Amino acid sequence: MQCDKCSAEAVMHAAYSGLHLCADHFTRSVEKRVRRRIREDGLVPDDATPEDPATWVIGLSGGKDSVVLTQILHDTFAMDPRIELVALSIHEGIEGYRDKSLDACEALTASLDIRHETVSYAEEFGVRMDDVAEDDPENMAPCAYCGVFRRDLLSRYAEAFDADLMLTGHNLDDEAETALMNFLEGDVEQIAKHFDASLGPLDERTEQDHHVPRAKPLRDVPEKEVALYAQLEDLPAHITECPHAEEAFRGEIQRLMLDLEEDHPGTRHSIMSGYEELAALAADAYGGGRQSYGECERCGAPTARDICRKCALVEALEEPE
Ligand code: SF4
Ligand code: ZN
Repeated sequence: MQCDKCSAEAVMHAAYSGLHLCADHFTRSVEKRVRRRIREDGLVPDDATPEDPATWVIGLSGGKDSVVLTQILHDTFAMDPRIELVALSIHEGIEGYRDKSLDACEALTASLDIRHETVSYAEEFGVRMDDVAEDDPENMAPCAYCGVFRRDLLSRYAEAFDADLMLTGHNLDDEAETALMNFLEGDVEQIAKHFDASLGPLDERTEQDHHVPRAKPLRDVPEKEVALYAQLEDLPAHITECPHAEEAFRGEIQRLMLDLEEDHPGTRHSIMSGYEELAALAADAYGGGRQSYGECERCGAPTARDICRKCALVEALEEPE
């Protein structure tokens, strides 16, 4: 099959657009979508200057998504003195998994000359995910703990680096799954929060003074295309899956979404365009009357309770059985 834009051999066919693209046109189209998203979400602040640049912290796990995000952000902003990139990796304490992906992070940031910081659950909270999965005092999936710890570290370190923005590698599949999960759970306030936390254009979000704003510039690119980009660009991505991955509901949604997309190409895109419009309305409707945040009595993190969720989990994990 030939590329629709030139005479080279096509390396991919996107059923949702009908396009066949060669390696060159495909990688350019991924980069174009990411840059358009950065523009449309208004991520580059007007007042950033070479003397006072904006600091963007990238959550870099070493998986294909965050590796592709880091590479494209570097290619886009390396020559732009208004933006300073910092990569932040988290060591969860998962034997045989995280060490290898951290090697990928090291290799990438060294080759791009990006500042790279690594923080660990062990040092920060005194826990390792392998032990958490074993002890499981709250009787939850490992990812439920891990997500709380990760969010805490990302926002705390984004704060510590005086970051203007926290960027993560969520792709189109991730976001469409989250959207569908929020629909199915019937949680409109969650949808409003999603808009204000990471989905809406920066200047349309309700001000969140309790955390650094987040952004997901890869969210227009399907997962398979992110993987193909990493492969074609020969990026040092780590592909093994975490041994504790078992988010039951998301797994079901994932399978449902793949089936829908196969039978009705374009489903993920249409879910997201409808969801974004609804999320904007929901954020607007909830805007004023949102919960107010105080500080956690233990760690000072923003929380609506006396003790934040992370501190409650660490405490439960410390208790003797
Ligand atoms: Fe943590 Fe779950 Fe991701 Fe493993 S799959 S790193 S346990 S969130
Ligand atoms: Zn706390």
